[in-house]
Amino acid sequence: MKRREFVGGVVAAAGLSGCSKPEAGCNTDTSASTETFQWSCVTSWPPRFPGLGMAVENLASRLERASAGRLKIKVYGGGELYPAFEVFDVVSRGVVEMGHDASYYHKGKVDAAQFFTAIPFGLNYMELNAWIHYGGGLELWRELYAQFNLVPFLCGNTGVQMGGWFNKEINSIADLKGLKMRIPGLGGEVLRRAGGTPITLPGAEIFTSLQTGAIDATEWVGPYNDVAFGLHKAATYYYYPGWQEPGPGLECIINREAWDSLPVDLQELVEITCQSITTDMAAEYTNGNANSLRQIQADPNIEIRPFPDDVLRHLKTIAREVVEELASKDPQVAKISKPYYEYLEKMEANTRISEQAYLDTRKL
Ligand code: CA
Repeated sequence: MKRREFVGGVVAAAGLSGCSKPEAGCNTDTSASTETFQWSCVTSWPPRFPGLGMAVENLASRLERASAGRLKIKVYGGGELYPAFEVFDVVSRGVVEMGHDASYYHKGKVDAAQFFTAIPFGLNYMELNAWIHYGGGLELWRELYAQFNLVPFLCGNTGVQMGGWFNKEINSIADLKGLKMRIPGLGGEVLRRAGGTPITLPGAEIFTSLQTGAIDATEWVGPYNDVAFGLHKAATYYYYPGWQEPGPGLECIINREAWDSLPVDLQELVEITCQSITTDMAAEYTNGNANSLRQIQADPNIEIRPFPDDVLRHLKTIAREVVEELASKDPQVAKISKPYYEYLEKMEANTRISEQAYLDTRKL
């Protein structure tokens, strides 16, 4: 659908019809421009952080090479130019042209943005891609962000995460009571309603908090990033699956005026490159997770366990209640949650007899 719209934009540029796609910026010059653009990109990640931070470095270097130097982007880690959680604001205000972060960081300001990263028990990596690029998700996302002068792109995905590292066993719903766990966002709210105490900690403080017993558990990402953080040295149980983040997508956000200033070929290049980063990051994480899991499996001090089914069922019920409550208070959440859950239901039926059915054969 997006491709068709872009073709429409090019036709318009050839003078056959009027501009119909606001995202295309209605730029009417199709000749290969020699104009160069020098942008800054702020991020929520530590500078050159493995996986998340390197993905945006790759985005910048690919764009510069593919555009023969016409689009140069300097990437800044969180805190280098602006604090890690101000990416949305500074790009929205046009202080910088581009940002890379996760849309669920905008919780509290734009609660509806959370659908585009991850919803507990929601769409996985492949399903989120399908919803964004073919299922109407991108149109909802762009409409939501238009009021903030931002054009969003899906740009990265870690794949399904792990449930996390625990120093307490979770054998029943009762074991969640009083559990002090680092778990942000909607997942944290779900845990709170299940009787636990969600704690928000910056990445750098997680290891020490777990090791000293200040927290009983933490989720982070998955084997690849967790081992890099040393979390396997601070906990006994590694629980799965990551119900709280079943396939979180990351976002590249571009200030509207900056986007409109690009000629159509560079706009197309940005779209293609963001999609390539999503595929690339998922591949990197899948490969890294498998390697790091092997290391964790070989460690006699760690037990890898599934959450009990009744615990997951309970958390799933609460997760839906949390989103429905948000929707009842926020029309923007309501507008996106309805099609999101309809899409999820349709996808669950499809995934059950395709990917899930195939993966089940591996147990045979
Ligand atoms: Ca996580």
